[in-house]
Amino acid sequence: MEKIYMIPVNDAYNSADECPFCFLKNKAENDYLEYYLGPSLMEPDTRKITNKTGFCPEHMGKLNKSVTNRLGLGLVMHTHLKDFHDDISKDIIAAAPSKAGLLKGRSSDYKSKLNDIADRIDKRVAMCPICEKLNDTMRHYSEVTAWMFIHNDEFRKKFSETKYHCLPHTSVLLRQAAKLSQNEAADFVSALASSSDLAFNELIGDVEYFTLKFDYRNSDKPWGNSKNAIQRSMRFLSSDRRDFDEQLGKKQS
Ligand SMILES: [Zn+2]
Ligand SMILES: [Zn+2]
Repeated sequence: MEKIYMIPVNDAYNSADECPFCFLKNKAENDYLEYYLGPSLMEPDTRKITNKTGFCPEHMGKLNKSVTNRLGLGLVMHTHLKDFHDDISKDIIAAAPSKAGLLKGRSSDYKSKLNDIADRIDKRVAMCPICEKLNDTMRHYSEVTAWMFIHNDEFRKKFSETKYHCLPHTSVLLRQAAKLSQNEAADFVSALASSSDLAFNELIGDVEYFTLKFDYRNSDKPWGNSKNAIQRSMRFLSSDRRDFDEQLGKKQS
């Protein structure tokens, strides 16, 4: 088992106040964002990849928010746009069907051609080396998590006491559990399932309380844990913390 992944997994389960996998993901993502904004941006091998892939919409947004290395980002954008243009523009132009006239009959060929080009654009827009690295790293983390759960009593206890894993990361861990032997999966999934059930119940209760607070008869009651129940639910459902922090919610209300 790869030891380099054990320390961060242990740290996450020790220090995360919400989903430990979100904690791991945010940390890895920040490292990769920094990597792509750093000197690697000028390395020919990296550029060969980013010329082709660019970045997905989410990671372009995150790169844009970072103020460092605007020149590097500009150079990547320039070569990526050129690569995309060379690949697709002439085909978009050629895809315009000729008008059906008396001599040229009607043809439905153009429909599949248009859909094919749209598919190619969608596929390229979604490509992202940061997503790829991140998915790979999260896969290692889930392997290590299951391995430590099986082999290390202390970690097993920690995992079982985890308040919750968000749903996308519950899914990652369930896929990992599917690779285990039946006996190993039995314990691992039981621990995961009970924390997931607790999290659902707690959030359902807190969000309901939040909505009841809008009833004037409850206006004097304390908010308790319900004040950030919406943001916590969003993080539970999506794993992404960026747009769901409590500060943004406050500004809007
Ligand atoms: Zn998560
Ligand atoms: Zn991405």
